[in-house]
Amino acid sequence: MVIDLHTHSTESDGTDTPAELVAAAAAAGLDTVAITDHDTASGWAAAAAALPAGLRLVRGSEQSCTSFDGRGHRITVHLLAYLYDPTSPALVAEQVRLRSERRERLHKMAFRMAADGFPIDPDALLAGVPEEATVGRPHLAMALMRAGVVSSVDEAFATFLAGGQYYVPRTDTPVEHAIEMITAAGGVTVLAHPFAVARGPIVTSDVVRSLASVGLAGVEVDHPDHDADTRLRLRRLADSAGLIVTGSSDYHGTNKTIRLGAESTAPEMLDALAERATGCKILVG
Ligand code: AMP
Ligand code: FE
Ligand code: FE
Ligand code: ZN
Repeated sequence: MVIDLHTHSTESDGTDTPAELVAAAAAAGLDTVAITDHDTASGWAAAAAALPAGLRLVRGSEQSCTSFDGRGHRITVHLLAYLYDPTSPALVAEQVRLRSERRERLHKMAFRMAADGFPIDPDALLAGVPEEATVGRPHLAMALMRAGVVSSVDEAFATFLAGGQYYVPRTDTPVEHAIEMITAAGGVTVLAHPFAVARGPIVTSDVVRSLASVGLAGVEVDHPDHDADTRLRLRRLADSAGLIVTGSSDYHGTNKTIRLGAESTAPEMLDALAERATGCKILVG
């Protein structure tokens, strides 16, 4: 059984359309795939419509949230939300707000680069992206690559996008509030790549325990950005806090090198997640 519960499509910063994503998942031999675009459920219908025979689809998203690091500084965290009701008004309103702010923010970043002479058109950057889809820095990274400014998305992040003069911050959802909204929408939550230090400052174990007490269902342990020691520590934390453990590739198509199914979730862990969800069902192709 290969179960991959974290992937992105062109509805956010992946490069496969939702239909291509489910086809690629079947071709890669997956039994179950989750579509988890940033801050949107807009890929669910197309993925469901194209679901290959035998493949199971878990509908979800990866919500942009904030929490605190060990020193009390506000940090970004990602919250995987699965099997929620996609018409839940509070959650939909927050996703609309996040997507709109992401557009303004990316436009500002592109505008700052254009003003400095980089061959980037801020309006053209956003023009190609559907209204319900989510933009992120990878869109700007790809534009910089097309313009020949950098040779890879990684180089764009390392050189221009991870901070510095072109970086513009966002106002993401406090993670406790996101957990409440997703739970109220019948969904289940899993903290994505909680200890991925390469991405920036991370939450402490105490924060993870406190999130468990407000309804967090699980933590993503097997993730490409966690080394062996980190996985061990997270697994112990999950055991002691009664959290479900997942593993996933965080596939982004050609924006990253990781392949579908490179990391996976145990069947009983997916069962435990599905048992807690009432917002929508796992689809079977
Ligand atoms: P944003 O959504 O604008 O905050 O951009 C974050 C997204 O960019 C993440 O979801 C990753 O897909 C991608 N990303 C973050 N850091 C890097 C990096 N160093 N290299 C390549 N992609 C990255
Ligand atoms: Fe991403
Ligand atoms: Fe993430
Ligand atoms: Zn992701």
